[in-house]
Amino acid sequence: MFRAILVTKDDDTYQARLSEVDESALPEGDVTVAIDYSSLNYKDALAITGRGPVVRRFPMVPGIDLAGEVTHSLAPGFAPGDKVLVNGCGLGEVHWGGLAERARVKSEWLVPLPARFSTRQAMSIGTAGFTAMLCVMALERHGMKPDGGEILVTGASGGVGSFAISLLAASGYTVVASTGRPEEADYLERIGAKRIIPRAELAAPGRPLGKELWAGVIDSVGGTTLANACAQTRYGGTVAACGLAGSMDLPATVAPFILRGITLAGVDSVYCPAPLRSAAWQRLATELPLAGIDAIATEIRLDEAIAMAADLLDGKVRGRVAVRLA
Ligand code: NDP
Repeated sequence: MFRAILVTKDDDTYQARLSEVDESALPEGDVTVAIDYSSLNYKDALAITGRGPVVRRFPMVPGIDLAGEVTHSLAPGFAPGDKVLVNGCGLGEVHWGGLAERARVKSEWLVPLPARFSTRQAMSIGTAGFTAMLCVMALERHGMKPDGGEILVTGASGGVGSFAISLLAASGYTVVASTGRPEEADYLERIGAKRIIPRAELAAPGRPLGKELWAGVIDSVGGTTLANACAQTRYGGTVAACGLAGSMDLPATVAPFILRGITLAGVDSVYCPAPLRSAAWQRLATELPLAGIDAIATEIRLDEAIAMAADLLDGKVRGRVAVRLA
């Protein structure tokens, strides 16, 4: 038996509870992992609370991230004792995920744990840090350079936002953080923001074209925030869009695209192809300041995750939450 959060749905009752699960119930896969750490992401909070349609099969173990040690493997590339991680790949949505002491997964989803990281550090980074790295890489693909001007990061105190700030600052970019929590200004400056702007500046519907402010943007908020960020992006700049913490809408016009040639780059972490996945983890392992990880992440136990899910969706959780299993 092992402990897991189990999400069930009977008729109209949606429930997440800490449960004891028999190992024989684990889904199919060629590698079994004893999980050291998982994490609590926005998507996991939606899955736990039922506030968003994340879970596609029931019962489900939520948790889109996991890191731990291989205990059994039928895959040639992995052996018991190997330290591994998985992020995305349908974990916690269509395949049992990381908020459990055990997982059985497909070997093609596994990433060898980078030597520089402990399993705790890897899960402090998790999908949020990985997605922030993909956003940075998307901006770079479209020509962004550290001396090109200010980069705006929205949803700044959240997981993706915090790691975006830390990564950009470590590479010499000038980062402007947009936040609804002015009380987190010290934190945001500590992890690398040069200056802070209030979330409200981007929240109200704006003009199709605004003053040209940003060389690039990493947006995890969506809605009018993303529309205004596009309208304020400088000629030829790029906006990496990865989230919907504010809204799934995009109430924008084509003006920034056809008059300023800006690029809107979509970023998906879940089904990110393996070569890009491994490149992003390698860059995290070389570029992310370890002190930044400690500043951004806190740790909770599995039995605290359900209560914290609602707080996270309500924007009350700062940075990242690693969930300890071992
Ligand atoms: P967090 O909850 O950690 O951070 C979200 C941040 O957005 C909050 O901290 C807050 O920042 C801001 N925010 C929250 N609510 C609102 C609101 N109503 N209006 C404006 N801003 C708001 O989540 P994550 O960082 O883990 O994820 C952020 C988003 O990115 C989510 O939508 C998530 O689903 C998505 N995501 C997408 C991925 C992909 O593969 N495309 C991967 C990972 C995440 P502040 O208080 O500083 O304003």
